[in-house]
Amino acid sequence: MTFSTVQRLQFNRSGRALDAEYVQRLPRVHCTQCKSLWAKGSVGYPAWDIAHLERLGVRFGVYETVDEVEMERMRRIIQRELGPIYCPPGTGFGHLSGRAGYPLPDFCSGNGIFASDRAIEALASEGCELVIGKGELKRGKKVITSHRPLQFPAMPLATEESLDAGDYERCKFCGIIFGRKIVPSAEGVHVFRRDLIPVNASAIVEAVSCTILVSDEFAYAVRKHALTGIEVIPWNRFED
Ligand SMILES: [Zn+2]
Repeated sequence: MTFSTVQRLQFNRSGRALDAEYVQRLPRVHCTQCKSLWAKGSVGYPAWDIAHLERLGVRFGVYETVDEVEMERMRRIIQRELGPIYCPPGTGFGHLSGRAGYPLPDFCSGNGIFASDRAIEALASEGCELVIGKGELKRGKKVITSHRPLQFPAMPLATEESLDAGDYERCKFCGIIFGRKIVPSAEGVHVFRRDLIPVNASAIVEAVSCTILVSDEFAYAVRKHALTGIEVIPWNRFED
């Protein structure tokens, strides 16, 4: 299977990202080793509510700060429930709600991706398996019934070699990766591991670069049904 990368997702009418926010967000980390204070806002799972894990010691709140040992303890609790998912500091879970202008394209984004029912139907009709999240957008007090959040799995796919070739530094304690080339273009330095992509995945977020990869069926559906707010181009930088 080949993949395309999503080059553009449309924000709302004013050009700003949607102000959507998750009902649960993991705290940020203050690393005792590298001294970084960080959270990753771009990873979220709107289909999975984990409020019940609070009684097991998982804490929420983006303005909460924990150290890397505590973050790892909470991560283990979450992964025991949901499997080996990627959940860095700041990961969002559960109901995703926010505000949007008008008119909305088929795809719009900002702390999550919303798609129109038309787009969801078109993707499903071309064989894409989608996970629909919980949440909604509002315009004023009115709920927008045409769009729903999609949940794309997130995971690091960039190879060690391609990270080393970029201008990155990594902390082995808290896992932060920082550097000047933090947002690569499709022509950028990154090479992704194909073997980590789940079988039948229609879309996946490469977690280091926040690159969205979509399957052939997804890209085909975007073109055939002229879905708006999204632009996809072929991606071929996979490890041999
Ligand atoms: Zn660190």
